Amino acid sequence: SGDKERANNVAKIKVVVRKRPLNKKEIAKKEEDIITIQPHSNYLTVHETKLKVDLTEYVERHEFVFDAVLNEDVTNEEVYSETVEPIVPLIFHRTKATCFAYGQTGSGKTYTMQPLPLKASHDILRLMHQMHRSQGFQLYVSFFEIYGGKVFDLLNDRKKLCMREDGKQQVCIVGLQEYRVSNVDTIRELIEKGNATRSTGTTGANEESSRSHAILQLAIKRSADGSDSKPARLVGKLSFIDLAGSERGADTTDNDKQTRMEGAEINKSLLALKECIRALDNDQGHIPFRGSKLTEVLRDSFVGDSRTVMISCISPSSGSCEHTINTLRYADRVK
Ligand code: ADP
Ligand code: MG
Repeated sequence: SGDKERANNVAKIKVVVRKRPLNKKEIAKKEEDIITIQPHSNYLTVHETKLKVDLTEYVERHEFVFDAVLNEDVTNEEVYSETVEPIVPLIFHRTKATCFAYGQTGSGKTYTMQPLPLKASHDILRLMHQMHRSQGFQLYVSFFEIYGGKVFDLLNDRKKLCMREDGKQQVCIVGLQEYRVSNVDTIRELIEKGNATRSTGTTGANEESSRSHAILQLAIKRSADGSDSKPARLVGKLSFIDLAGSERGADTTDNDKQTRMEGAEINKSLLALKECIRALDNDQGHIPFRGSKLTEVLRDSFVGDSRTVMISCISPSSGSCEHTINTLRYADRVK
């Protein structure tokens, strides 16, 4: 059918890089834009300034190729069309899709990620009303975070939750609040509520939220007979993941014990994620979910007909050069 053809045309794994503009602070510090992207191409060059032994400077170029490379003029609307939009119709046909934002703190992960679930649910609701009218499809929203290897419900006062595995290799988060939604305004309110609930600690929102993975899920369900009154079963799912700041994974030698433990956990989860996505691509059958809480939670999204989009966010500034190269290397491995 047409749907099946469309599904086959959407890549199983897509890796996209998004460069943000230089910000005021970077401009004030006279930092330079070291990332060049050829217009309408999918490659990117990092110009790294290095020192010779005699302390004279030279520039080393690092070239990378990805499925798409988005420069600083690209709007959130265009990011959506490039990443999530093609996947939305598939989740009515049992596909489970996951969209990640990866990058150092301040690179634009949250800026990139926040509008996506709203745009996706707008399209999902439109499809439910159009082609799927009276077929009993229902849309559910849940939103939680993983912090220090523990799961907290962002739509229920950060209640700490446990995971349970049933005999059929399904993992579920016990007691996670799921809201059935039928309009975009309600979804917007839930997303705002969840964002306000993200761990802010005492040090300010960006500092603390950079140590947690925020996971927003849109689930399509359907009752057995297509009616609205019977219990509904999961059809497909779309997960949006605003990952912890990638530089946090290196906090493993910090003086503070808590920070060190969180750093180790983040490092473990980002490595496990990379391994799982690589295994998906190889169709090996064995996917190493158990490497971290993050990958365990995502287990059911990696089996069956799955789609993965990785959006790697980078800062253009010379001061972020090392982190940017690390991010691009990570993305390159996933590709
Ligand atoms: P992260 O979530 O990776 O820590 P943020 O999304 O909070 O980073 O972005 C850091 C700052 O940069 C924010 O003030 C955000 O508004 C701004 N920003 C990020 N990406 C862009 C972009 N593509 N265009 C304009 N501003 C951006
Ligand atoms: Mg953020």
